[in-house]
Amino acid sequence: MSKKGILYILSAPSGAGKTSLVKSLVSDLPFIRVSVSHTTRPMRPGEEDGVNYHFTARDRFQEMINQGEFLEFAEVFGNFYGTSQAWVQDTLAEGYDLILEIDWQGAQQIRRLMPEAKSIFILPPSQAALRERLQNRGQDNSDVIENRMRQAVSEMSHYVEFDYLIINDNFNQALDELKAIFTANQLVLNKQQSQHTELLRELLKPQ
Ligand code: 5GP
Repeated sequence: MSKKGILYILSAPSGAGKTSLVKSLVSDLPFIRVSVSHTTRPMRPGEEDGVNYHFTARDRFQEMINQGEFLEFAEVFGNFYGTSQAWVQDTLAEGYDLILEIDWQGAQQIRRLMPEAKSIFILPPSQAALRERLQNRGQDNSDVIENRMRQAVSEMSHYVEFDYLIINDNFNQALDELKAIFTANQLVLNKQQSQHTELLRELLKPQ
C-alpha cells in the first residue's frame, strides 16, 4: 500500500496550450501540485520569481548542478532549466500527485530515474493553428515565429516516447481528457487501499 503521490511529466511545444490547461487542472483537482523549475532565462513581463520559475543566475545554477540538487536539468533554447530533487521527493512523500512541465530531454532523464512516472504529451490540432497561436502572442516578429515553429516541430517529434497523447483542439475537451488520466490513476488498487484503509477493513469484518 502506498500513500506516495504519482509523478507526471507533461510536455508540449510552446503554443500548444499546456500552461492554461495545467492552471485549470490544478484548480479542479486538489491532490495535484506543480513543480516550479529553476531557470537561467530572464524573467518575462508578467512573470513572478518563485511562481513561474525560480529565476537563477548561471553560476548559481552551475553550483546546484555540481551539488546534485537537480533531479533533471537541460539546456533549452540557450538557457538552463532544472527540477529540484528535494522538492519533488518531499512532495511525493506527502502524498500529492506532482506535475513536471519539462521538455523532452528532461522527460528522458526522469524516465530513466523513475520508470514509474507517467508521461503526457500535448499537441496542437494543426501546424496552422500552432502558428496562429504563436502569432497571437503578438510580441515577436516573423523570423522569431518561424524559428519557434521549427523548434515546435522538433519538440513534437518526441511525442512517441510518451504514455498519453492529448490533442488540444477544444480546450474543455482537452481538460476533461487530462482530468481523466489523473482520476483514473487515483483509482488503481494500491492508491484506493491506502485512501480507504478503514472502509476496506470494515467491509471485510466477519459477520
Ligand atoms: P519557457 O522558457 O518558454 O517557459 O520554457 C521553455 C521550455 O523549457 C519548455 O519546453 C518547458 O517545458 C521547458 N522547461 C521548463 N522547465 C523545465 C525544467 O525544469 N526542466 C526541463 N528539462 N525543461 C523545462
